[in-house]
Amino acid sequence: MNLRVLVVEDDPEIRALVQSSLTVEGFTVQTAVSLSEASALIRHDLPDILVLDLGLPDGDGLSLVQDVRKTHALPILIVSARHQETQKIRALDAGADDYLVKPFSVGELLERISVALRHRGTALAAAVTTHTLDDLQIDLTSRLVTVQGQTVHLTPTEFNLLARLVRSAGRVVTHRQLLSDVWGAEYTEHTHYLRLYMGQLRAKIERDPAEPRHLLTETGVGYRLATG
Ligand code: CA
Repeated sequence: MNLRVLVVEDDPEIRALVQSSLTVEGFTVQTAVSLSEASALIRHDLPDILVLDLGLPDGDGLSLVQDVRKTHALPILIVSARHQETQKIRALDAGADDYLVKPFSVGELLERISVALRHRGTALAAAVTTHTLDDLQIDLTSRLVTVQGQTVHLTPTEFNLLARLVRSAGRVVTHRQLLSDVWGAEYTEHTHYLRLYMGQLRAKIERDPAEPRHLLTETGVGYRLATG
């Protein structure tokens, strides 16, 4: 079965590149150059994946994320320019799965699509409860974290923060999402909590906390647990 991707992008070069590379990978690709065109296509026939530029001639892609998320759980990947930091974060908080900053490579795009599909696909089945990468092993059910076979002792908050990242492994999780899910909705502005606890987690898990390989910083946006 070919998965159908709708690429919403007004830049003709990027649109052509994304279209051809996804077609080569076996996706069926539709394109739209504006919000109105995208909305019409989505109403007519819902795609399996949405790749959405934020800056479009008739408005901000954010509004489409909000619209689509009211009724659909399909993976949404945001494509943004460097200066669109705020819109990007708002789109993630509105339910977009991940983002790419221009210029991005085809490999990055395919990796993000595959992670988003995996998460959306398993969202209704079993939740992610284990994570393994290199010397790090995490089992959320038994609350066991080991590095090189040695048990790592985490505080309840450190564990909850790590668990939240494991459930979204490979995807960015925004500061707001982490603070809200781990500490509570009234803590979404307390980003210093995150810096503190992320520092503690890295000290316990990373071989070199200054050069993290597991708990990656997405500057200005949030954190990502590496999957490869
Ligand atoms: Ca654009």
